[in-house]
Amino acid sequence: MMISAGLKEKIDNETFPIMEGKRTGNYVFEPSFASAQSGSAKLGDHQVVMLTSNNYLGLATNEEIKQALKQATDLYGSGTCGARLHNGTTILHRQLEQRCADYFGTEDAVILSAGYLTNVAAISAVADRDTLVVTDQLNHMSIVDGIKLSGAQVRIFRHNDMQKLEYILEKNASFNKKIIIVEGVYSMDGDLAPLRTINELSKKYGASILVDEAHSFGFIGKKGRGVSELLGVEQDVHMRMITFSKSLANVGGCIATDRKTATYIKHYANQYIFNASLPPAIVAGTLKAFDLLETEQWRVEKLWRNTIRFRKGMIHLGFDTMNSSSPVVPIYVGSDEINMKMTKELLAEGVYIATAMYPAVPMNESRLRATITAALTDDEIDFALKKFEKVGKKYELIH
Ligand code: PMP
Repeated sequence: MMISAGLKEKIDNETFPIMEGKRTGNYVFEPSFASAQSGSAKLGDHQVVMLTSNNYLGLATNEEIKQALKQATDLYGSGTCGARLHNGTTILHRQLEQRCADYFGTEDAVILSAGYLTNVAAISAVADRDTLVVTDQLNHMSIVDGIKLSGAQVRIFRHNDMQKLEYILEKNASFNKKIIIVEGVYSMDGDLAPLRTINELSKKYGASILVDEAHSFGFIGKKGRGVSELLGVEQDVHMRMITFSKSLANVGGCIATDRKTATYIKHYANQYIFNASLPPAIVAGTLKAFDLLETEQWRVEKLWRNTIRFRKGMIHLGFDTMNSSSPVVPIYVGSDEINMKMTKELLAEGVYIATAMYPAVPMNESRLRATITAALTDDEIDFALKKFEKVGKKYELIH
């Protein structure tokens, strides 16, 4: 194999913290699961309690969804083998777009093959070099990449700092095209965007708002439409982004917006034009998940009960769960090394929890990051709390 000398040097000398774990035997990423993931799952030879999965409503193992996937495969085959504008659109794809639009009460919606691509597509299509994009410091990498690709003039404000946001908007008032981008619930810290203030500022300075509702859709707001619904600003948000890979337990994403913006994205976003469309089975599974989301309210109630049980338990033990007020519960650790060691030991004790390290969070602001789901039982949560107590004491995070 020919490999360029410079590239070889670069790759061989990588000192990324996540790689450091490989050298010290503490690498905790990409474990291979051997079963479906519910409140617990099979990892290697043992069953582990799942404290990390975006399966918020516990739909990943739902029989009706699995059945919908099978039926659609029988009818449409495995993949569409093409992009949406060519042969990649089935009746199901259009149904799902309509379903998203109906759910959010918007004129239209665009679906893409991943949540990641959805942010990249919407931002890179709508923003251009003459656009001011004002973005929260903690926004997801798909937002960061969408902005980069758009070539827009970007200004970053400190997380949820509304004074800084206003300062930026005021200083850059001369821009004709402006977008403020935030997440409803922040994926690493689990706190909410102050969307009422953001909305007021957007009106004052004439800016569009894009809200990524990936971690709020399905269970925040009376109808589950996310933080925009909860804080009563839905009518003013230009683009609402959701992913199908979390509450709906499938894959893909959508932008709910007005018809003209949806049409614009469909014809200007390379991620839409040049990417194979979602397999029909996944589209059918997502449609079925939408049905269940609207009819099985008990899942939302269970998710919140579980979230409160876990967070209260952790706070009672003395852990720092930061400012989270959602099912995303960070447990602050700090040191990357201790974080990886704790993850490894919790795993050995039968608890799977992801570690969030740089670049997902700032360097040496590592944390364990629990995402609570409706699939967890009380016993599973209590089991996990006991293990946290043991490992937390060992590493002196609690006493
Ligand atoms: N936005 C946010 C806030 C996310 O957390 C994620 C997934 N981690 C995405 C977008 C991308 O979604 P997906 O994984 O479905 O591509």
